[in-house]
Amino acid sequence: MRHFLSQHPHNLPRSDYGGTGKRLFIGLVAGTAVLICLVLLLIWLIPTIGFSGIHPWLPSLSGVLFGGAILVVIWLCAGLALHAYTGRPILGTQKMRGITIRVLLPLMEAMARVIRIPVEAVRRSFIKVNNELILDSGIHCPPEKLLVLLPHCIQSSRCPHRLSYHIDNCVRCGACPMRDILELRDRLGVRVAVATGGTIARRIVVQVHPKIIVAVACERDLASGIQDSHPIPVFGVINERPNGPCLDTQVNMQRLEAAVQAFVEPSQQA
Ligand code: SF4
Repeated sequence: MRHFLSQHPHNLPRSDYGGTGKRLFIGLVAGTAVLICLVLLLIWLIPTIGFSGIHPWLPSLSGVLFGGAILVVIWLCAGLALHAYTGRPILGTQKMRGITIRVLLPLMEAMARVIRIPVEAVRRSFIKVNNELILDSGIHCPPEKLLVLLPHCIQSSRCPHRLSYHIDNCVRCGACPMRDILELRDRLGVRVAVATGGTIARRIVVQVHPKIIVAVACERDLASGIQDSHPIPVFGVINERPNGPCLDTQVNMQRLEAAVQAFVEPSQQA
């Protein structure tokens, strides 16, 4: 039996996330919560001194409002940090997770810049936490409801075939990962699409209407894709960039297949 504060059951290997763990994410959530509470406290304290001159009740009223706001921030951040650590929704904050992440991640990135932590490490930590929470939710779907979303830079820059509108234009020469990804698609029956940017990615998601997305991309695109696609869960697979960003990128096929297999309904697996 799991203890109330026992660690997450789906503890994904750090090596898949450039050696980054989720403690960075949890630490930054806590730091951001403290910062927001301090700012709220200051905003409350400064005018409160003047409020008493307008009406004797005003300082108490603003105290209740700001005190309430501080409690909500603590509740949301503590819930998110405990959920990330244990893998279980705690304090009823599960439904607020999307909003919390949308508001908190930019603040956490800003804080990381100030204290000189690489923003990429924060994003990797966030993607790891996000992936573990999705695995923990136990979500499964028929293969045709799972969309594998790829960046255009995964296609060889020397390939003459256009894949954006018709992925089967690939003749599977093996010069880039597309051949193996298409073989995976044929074997498992999942959907695969190449997105040349955020707008096209959104259009594909609207057309395919997936239940879950397994996205391959860099840390920045995955972090923003996870936020933009909410409430559709996005499991992020960080790409490999042996030629630098956005050029002939690679993906670890074992990781990609393991991610896809984790969500396809067991009865429909190959
Ligand atoms: S595997 Fe497909 S996409 Fe990649 S270079 Fe060959 S034909 Fe082009």
